[in-house]
Amino acid sequence: MRPANHSHPPRPAATVNGRPVWRGLPVPWVARWTGEIQENLALRAALLDDKLWLTLSDALSTHPLGPRQVLGSERDELGLFWLPDLDAPGTGEPQFAGLHTGRLRASMLDRICQVCGVPFPSKEPVTFLDSAYLNDPNTGRTQAPTESHRPYITPTPPTCRSCIPVAMQMCPHNRGKEASRIIVSAHRYRPFAAKGDLYGIHKGVVEEEERGAVVQISDPRVSRLVVKQVYVQVIKYTTEPVTARASSRPSQ
Ligand SMILES: [Zn+2]
Repeated sequence: MRPANHSHPPRPAATVNGRPVWRGLPVPWVARWTGEIQENLALRAALLDDKLWLTLSDALSTHPLGPRQVLGSERDELGLFWLPDLDAPGTGEPQFAGLHTGRLRASMLDRICQVCGVPFPSKEPVTFLDSAYLNDPNTGRTQAPTESHRPYITPTPPTCRSCIPVAMQMCPHNRGKEASRIIVSAHRYRPFAAKGDLYGIHKGVVEEEERGAVVQISDPRVSRLVVKQVYVQVIKYTTEPVTARASSRPSQ
C-alpha cells in the first residue's frame, strides 16, 4: 500500500528533555516517523449488506485472514476507520509533513497539544493556531475564525499556548506569517468531517472512488472512508492576534 522508503532498519532519534529532536529541530508530537509506517499493507474491501467492510492485512502473509489481522472492525467511537500507523515515535526519520494517524486523532478529539503531546487541562479552552483564511472543505467558500464568532471548520490540530512560539518559529508554513495567523481559544468544538480515500462498489467490484475525499461525519458515506485526517467545527470561541511576543523565539 505504501512504498518502502528506507532500506535499513529505523534507529531511534536523539532526544532533548525526553522530546525527540531531529537535526537540532524539535519534532512535533503528531509528526509521523518513517519507522511507524506499516509496509506491505493490503487493503481489502468487500460489500456486505450494503455496507463496505474494509480490512487491512500484511500483503506478504500467506495465511488466510485471521481475526487479529482484520483491522476493519476497529473503528473509533465515531465509526471512523483510520489508516493504522505503528506506534514508535523517534524511530527512523520524522516526516514533518506527514502526520501519525493515531496521534493526530488523539490531538484533535482528545484535546492534546500537537507539538508537545501534553493534554489541555480539562477546564481550560483548547487553543488552535489557525489560519485567518480558511476554506470550508465542503463548499470551498472562505470560512475563518472571525470577530462575529460564527462556527468555523478547521483541519488544524490544537497547539497549547506554550508551544505557539515554537510553532511560529519552527514550522515553515507559519514562519513570518504572524499577520495571517490567529490564536483561537475554543470553548466548544465537535468532530465535523473526515478526510481520506473513499471506496465504493461498482458492477460488483470494489474500487477507490475518490482519493482525499472530505466527508461529513453525519454522511453515511463516511463508513466507506479510509480516514487519514479529521476536521472539527469550532462552535464557541474567542480570537486574538498572534502578537510579536507570542511568536518570539523561545529561549534556547
Ligand atoms: Zn504544547
